[in-house]
Amino acid sequence: MSELAILDLTPDQALGFRFRVTTRHGGVSTGPFASLNLSPAVPDNQAAVQENRRRALAALGLTPQRLIGAEQTHGNGVAVVGPEDGGRGVLPDSPPVPGVDALLTAEPGLFLFVQVADCYPVAIFDTRRRAVGLAHCGWRGTLAGLPANIVRIMADTFGSRPDDLLVVIGPGIGPCCYEVGPDLAGQARAKLPDPDRAIHRRAERTFLDLPAAIIQQLRATGLPESRILNRASCTACNRTTFYSHRAAGGLTGRFWAVAGWAGP
Ligand SMILES: [Zn+2]
Repeated sequence: MSELAILDLTPDQALGFRFRVTTRHGGVSTGPFASLNLSPAVPDNQAAVQENRRRALAALGLTPQRLIGAEQTHGNGVAVVGPEDGGRGVLPDSPPVPGVDALLTAEPGLFLFVQVADCYPVAIFDTRRRAVGLAHCGWRGTLAGLPANIVRIMADTFGSRPDDLLVVIGPGIGPCCYEVGPDLAGQARAKLPDPDRAIHRRAERTFLDLPAAIIQQLRATGLPESRILNRASCTACNRTTFYSHRAAGGLTGRFWAVAGWAGP
């Protein structure tokens, strides 16, 4: 497969919302970045990245002015953005929203994006107030409480109630492939509500189930289980479809996850 394909993870029950991810196919990058690397922050050819972004925007049906990216610092920071932020992280000389790993907006037609390769894109919709959020959840942000922070800030900013939220978890490194060392396992054990369900031992090795960790945190904020859709496929198992930092030994590209409310 070499054609540019957009995978649609939009849930049926979320009318007007969109949650889509790109794959690694359909771009012009070569070598470890082949071929649709969308991140200028990895040592890929920058002209190739710009061409890939142009193609991805066309396939998504978006102009750069309607897209906003976060800096992604592996923390728990969340920023609320509006039309004045359009193009941040995409337009030339317009850096991404600094110091945060999640963005929220209630502006119709404005789309949020994160760049991932094993970390989980997590989209959250308020189906009543029509606010939307998108987070980049790796182990650091997750253990720092990013998933719970988003729910809290949506409640404070938009008056969102847990019963009206709908969460979709996109592709990331699965519990099948995410082996972790004793240090990280210890941190996860100390910080997660129910660590035994997120840390697994197999053949003397320890694996972290990040979606389980994210879901536990969301459940702890009062979100019903029925409102959390785990659409995660493992990036390392599916390295021919997605970029996987772990499976590639660190040198690889990033794909986009994009979420927004298209409008009434
Ligand atoms: Zn896997």
